[in-house]
Amino acid sequence: MRDKLQVLAHIPTRTEDGIEIQLAANISTVKELDQVMKNGASGVGLFRTEFIYMDRDSLPLEEEQFRVYKQVAEKLHGKRVVIRTLDIGGDKSLDYFALPDEDNPALGYRAIRISLDRTDLFKTQLRAILRASYFGNIQLLYPMISSVEELDRANHVLQIAKQELRDEQILFNEQIEVGIMIEVPAAVVIADLLAPKVNFFSIGTNDLVQYVLAVDRMNETVAHLYDPFHPAVLRMLKSTVEAAKAANIHVSVCGEMAGDIRALPIWLGLEIKELSMSVQSILKVKNSLLQSHFNESSAIWKELLCCTSSTAVLKILSKYLHQDV
Ligand code: PEP
Ligand code: MG
Repeated sequence: MRDKLQVLAHIPTRTEDGIEIQLAANISTVKELDQVMKNGASGVGLFRTEFIYMDRDSLPLEEEQFRVYKQVAEKLHGKRVVIRTLDIGGDKSLDYFALPDEDNPALGYRAIRISLDRTDLFKTQLRAILRASYFGNIQLLYPMISSVEELDRANHVLQIAKQELRDEQILFNEQIEVGIMIEVPAAVVIADLLAPKVNFFSIGTNDLVQYVLAVDRMNETVAHLYDPFHPAVLRMLKSTVEAAKAANIHVSVCGEMAGDIRALPIWLGLEIKELSMSVQSILKVKNSLLQSHFNESSAIWKELLCCTSSTAVLKILSKYLHQDV
C-alpha cells in the first residue's frame, strides 16, 4: 500500500477544495531525513533531540550538538525544522544522568523542568541550536510548559545564550521563532496568556491525552482508557486553537493523533494548516487529505461539541472523512 502511495509524494498537499495543508515529519535522528524528503514532507515539525543524548556515556558537547542541528537544517534545503529542547524524564531516561526515583515520573522531574533546573545544560543546547540557525530554517520549541513563569525563565536563558554569541561574534538567526508544546492541561487553560509571548504552539497530543484523562500513556492496564477522541480532549484542542487565533499565532499538531486519518476532519474544522507525524504516516494522511473537503469541515465542530462519548465523536468524524478506515 505504501509503495502505491509513493506516487503522491511530490504532488501539492491540498484538500479537494484546494486548501494547502503542510504535512511535516517527526524525527529523532538525522538518518530519517532521507525518508522525510522521499515522502515529500513539508519539513520537520518536531525534532526530538533527546536521542542525541541517548546511547552514550556523557552529555553531548555544544560542538557535537551544533553539528547535528546544522546537518539537519542543511539537509532540509530551506524547509523548516522545529527543534525541541531536551525532553527527558517521564518515559525517556539517560544512563549517565541520574534522574530521581519517582513514584510518578510523568508528573515529576522532566523536560523543561530539568532544563530550568540545569540551566548549564540548557544553555549549551540553546547555543548549539542558535548557532545552527544561521545555516537553515530552524525554529525552537520548549516541551511541557505549564506556566508563564516557566516560559519567561526559558526565554531568559535564551536571551543570555544569544548575548553570549553576540559577544563572541558568532552568527545566528536573531529572529529565530520560538514556540511551546501544548501538552499539559494548564497550558491549554492559560493558552491566552502564553500565546502573546510565543510565535507558535505545537500541540503534543500524546502527553495532552495522558494528562487530561489521567491515563498513563505507558500503562497497558489502562490503555483502553487512553482515548484521543474523548470529548474532554476535543474541547482542549478547540480552546488551544481559539487562543492561538486570538493572538494571531500559528498552531501545528505533532502528537500521534496528527497521523491518525480519523482525526483529519477535526484539524480541518479547526483550520489547522500544519500536521507533523511519523515519517511512515505522511503519505497515508496525504492520501486522505487529497479527498477531504476543507469548507465542509467547518460545520463539524457544532456536531462534535454535542458528543458525549468518543464513540459518538468517531461516528461524526467518519461522516466527514469520505473514506472507509
Ligand atoms: C507529545 O507529547 O504529543 C509529543 C509529540 O511529544 P513526545 O511524544 O515526545 O512526548
Ligand atoms: Mg510530549
